[in-house]
Amino acid sequence: MAPPSSSSSAALPIPASKLDPSSFANQDEIKTTHFHLEWDVDFATQIITGSVAHTLVALAERVERVIFDTSGLTVRSVHVDGVAAAFQHDPSAHHPVLGAPLIITLPTPAARGATVVATIAYATTPACTGAQWLAAAQTQGKTHPFLYTQCQAIHARALLPCMDTPAVRATYSATVTAPDPLLVLMSAQRGATRPADVAGRTVYAFEQPVPIASYLIAACVGNIAVRQVGPRFTIAAEPELIDAAAWEFAETEATIDAFEAIAGPNPFGNVLYILLPRSYLFGGMENPGLVVLNPSLIAGDRSNVNVQIHELAHHHAGNSAGTNTWQDFYLNEGWCVYLERAIIGELEGEKARHFHAIMGQRALRESIAHYRETNEMQFTRLIVDLSGAVDPDAAFSSVPYERGFALLMHLESLVGLAKFRQFTRAYFEHFKFKALDTVMFRAFLKDYFASDADATRALGQVDWDAWLHGEGDVPVEVPYDDSLARECHELADAYLSAAKRLAEDGAAATDVDAAPWQHFSTLQKMAFMDRLLDATDVTFPAPLLREMEATLSLRPADLGNCELAFRWYWVCLRSHDETHFGPIGTFVTTWGRMKYVRPLYRAWAAASPRGLEEARQTFVKHRDFYHSVCAKALEKDLKLV
Ligand SMILES: [Zn+2]
Repeated sequence: MAPPSSSSSAALPIPASKLDPSSFANQDEIKTTHFHLEWDVDFATQIITGSVAHTLVALAERVERVIFDTSGLTVRSVHVDGVAAAFQHDPSAHHPVLGAPLIITLPTPAARGATVVATIAYATTPACTGAQWLAAAQTQGKTHPFLYTQCQAIHARALLPCMDTPAVRATYSATVTAPDPLLVLMSAQRGATRPADVAGRTVYAFEQPVPIASYLIAACVGNIAVRQVGPRFTIAAEPELIDAAAWEFAETEATIDAFEAIAGPNPFGNVLYILLPRSYLFGGMENPGLVVLNPSLIAGDRSNVNVQIHELAHHHAGNSAGTNTWQDFYLNEGWCVYLERAIIGELEGEKARHFHAIMGQRALRESIAHYRETNEMQFTRLIVDLSGAVDPDAAFSSVPYERGFALLMHLESLVGLAKFRQFTRAYFEHFKFKALDTVMFRAFLKDYFASDADATRALGQVDWDAWLHGEGDVPVEVPYDDSLARECHELADAYLSAAKRLAEDGAAATDVDAAPWQHFSTLQKMAFMDRLLDATDVTFPAPLLREMEATLSLRPADLGNCELAFRWYWVCLRSHDETHFGPIGTFVTTWGRMKYVRPLYRAWAAASPRGLEEARQTFVKHRDFYHSVCAKALEKDLKLV
């Protein structure tokens, strides 16, 4: 969920963990089973001050020290079982990817099975990579600031000293003090609130009784309204958005039914979605108890539900049964996409499931093409090698999602749908609340089908080496039902041919039969536009663009759905059409989601000399609206740095 950034060749202050190359924690000797946070949130300084108390259990005979991950934290003191303890923490030895280890010497070595409590007083810094502080102007209401956190993959260490590896699961509790009238939510159950000792501030209490990985720690602080929509489902958003959000997600209970029918009861019980302010740069993040969603999902017609189905599916895939290092990230995302599409199949039919799979194949092809260009084909492998402090964010792409999904579909096609669905349920039950790797996944698959000779024989055909370690295209393509894809591709192809003809003879009208468009789903309309965008050698003459806008209802006023708006504007800009520069400027300053604004700004700048000038002026004027990661990327895209 995090943006790509580069790896670093800087020297590590100490060797990384033997079990996880993205962490310093000595999880093989001792590990956190519970932690308690005391946080005080200060918007004026953009700093969280407080403490974390880790309850740890020794796993080896004579454990002398505890190593936590940190990044950009100021450590003030350390106590072990209430006694001041010696520690090493050198922020100047901060590694650009992994941060700095906090090494605590235990006053007396811990025997195997012994429990110690290490309490660390600390503060974050304004450069914290795990927290985003929004000014009031960046929110919908424009009157209160807003704070949200994003820890995946390895940014929890920027919020608290912790064993920042998905292998270590812990329960947690927290008390968070924040200024009135703001509300605090965390990826945990809410407890009682009480006035703080300081006037004008309130203390919120939380409890997460299920052991979760550090990357799922999350908090939001802002002017937030909370509404219970169904028995298992709650929605939260700024008050200005709450009605629209509650309407858009009103059918979530039915989605939860389908989810539980396929994968078993939700291990976390209830689901809460929070719609973040519009400058949020990602689509969503699956923190249990605090699923974060981009408000662009509110299309006004419930047509953008995919992302929420994906985040819902994570309650089994990842949040419960999840990878133990970022190298096997596909165990989270491949399984999640498999579940997501199984739910879609349940709700909309098998054809729809296959259509989504075909859309996924396109995303995978794009990622492979990108890595081919950047000469980083190692990131097209299912299991990536992150040793040597390679940033997990650098390996973030469609590959773990879609190559992982393709592997599971391959397995499904070999053993048959019914048997594989039974296996799916058994898998999530077996690995409930557990971290696993590919070896454990394969061992369970083999054991599960051991008494089924047909399935075992079929699974013998899997070329595991090619699937797990091969680069580029997937070894075996499952044949998908392309009936839903075909009709939108055919219509797109008709318009592409018309564009080519018109470019040659200059005529203004076409004879394209647009009737099928009327029954297209939003996803089909998206696939139609993707097809237009894939034809990089075709530009559309302006009269044809206007004709399509009239026939297909694609005028700016019709484009309430962001997925359609950004694609259509992109088609226009690619054709050097200046007609919609105004609405495009409004669009890219209303939404901060990188998926939309990066391609649009780039296409705007490339559309014409006037486009370049307006794109740059618009960005410079609205720079503060964007998340810092997004702003940095746009600066580069527009060649302003
Ligand atoms: Zn996901």
